[in-house]
Amino acid sequence: MSKIVILTGAGISAESGIETFRAEDGLWAQHRVEDVATPEGFMRNPELVVDFYNARRAQAAEVEPNAAHRALARLEAEHEGEVIVITQNVDDLHERGGTQKLYHMHGHLKGALCATCDHRWPAPMVMAPGDACPACAAPAARPDIVWFGEMPYDMETLFEHLSGADIFAAIGTSGNVYPAAGFVAEARGAGAHTIEFNLERSAVGSQFAEHRTGPASQTVTQWVSELLGK
Ligand code: NAD
Repeated sequence: MSKIVILTGAGISAESGIETFRAEDGLWAQHRVEDVATPEGFMRNPELVVDFYNARRAQAAEVEPNAAHRALARLEAEHEGEVIVITQNVDDLHERGGTQKLYHMHGHLKGALCATCDHRWPAPMVMAPGDACPACAAPAARPDIVWFGEMPYDMETLFEHLSGADIFAAIGTSGNVYPAAGFVAEARGAGAHTIEFNLERSAVGSQFAEHRTGPASQTVTQWVSELLGK
């Protein structure tokens, strides 16, 4: 029974209507990464950062999972071996599409995190800078998002999954953000068949054994049907 480990990025949510990091007219294009996705940016201007993620949380609530999210849930339900989905996305479209074994390595919009005591709790739809932590009462609530310069979640467990993978697939990720961009090398080193789903070759595209080019809603759905033999 084969173990399949799947890494997803912003490209899998693009067809649901959430702009990728690189989209020219998206939310991200209106802000500098250093301002909205670093701990230093948050310290400089917490209001800007909290508002940015409030807008992303509102947008994520308005969109629906697409065929690629649903195909991965189907793979998990019907494949005889293990299926692990690791996402860099902070939306909840995998969960809503039906995936159960899921790691949000860069955090998620539905979470709040105390910058003082690390307590985590469900974020309200609209956070405000200085919201109090329900555990320690410090006015230090922040979105539970892993910013640039911070350590992604569950790294030890993720590398264990990668070292046991028979198939490693990366879907809709540009291969620019580490450590996720290094997962292909890890899985390949462990003997996995590696496959990239993207509209174009990613920055680490040369490391994949196989490429499927096109919108994830089509390529991933087709791949899952092939794997399941129906
Ligand atoms: P990215 O924007 O850097 O790259 C997106 C990739 O998806 C590109 O390579 C693009 O060619 C590809 N793509 C676009 N549409 C596609 C489609 N329909 N089918 C297949 N591929 C498609 O995103 P990234 O690699 O995930 O990394 C950027 C960082 O930004 C991550 O840390 C992520 O957490 C964050 N981010 C998250 C979201 C989200 O949660 N939905 C959205 C934007 C950015």
